[in-house]
Amino acid sequence: MKHLQKIEHIGIAIRDLQKGNTLYSKILGVPAYKEEEVTSEHVKTSFFKVGESKIELLASTHETSAIAKFLKKRGEGIHHIAFAVDHLESEISRLKAEGFTFVSETPKLGADNKRVAFVHPKDCSGVLIELCEEINESAQK
Ligand code: ZN
Repeated sequence: MKHLQKIEHIGIAIRDLQKGNTLYSKILGVPAYKEEEVTSEHVKTSFFKVGESKIELLASTHETSAIAKFLKKRGEGIHHIAFAVDHLESEISRLKAEGFTFVSETPKLGADNKRVAFVHPKDCSGVLIELCEEINESAQK
């Protein structure tokens, strides 16, 4: 069984989403294919396709959000690396059994039609790792 399928996307924290969209559409040569607000996380996102992978830009909509805290502490830059998984719950239990801590114990609804869970960066040499599962896929099981 393959645990982590591929790098699904790389999340980049950005102060101004529109400026980020302009910048990244220049870099990547394609416009963002969607913008989405995740109100529960106080975050606005946009997505770009690069071959099989995606770039997710994340901007804060409220000063209490995780992105606002990240920007304050570390400035703009890579925020997380997201890996696609087939079955989120079984990957969470596998990694917990390996001693990893999760930012939140239960999966959350993420942007781009995903259920997501984050492994705490303190356990991953400072890198925030997102596990994400397509919602459509899980509905078929
Ligand atoms: Zn993400």
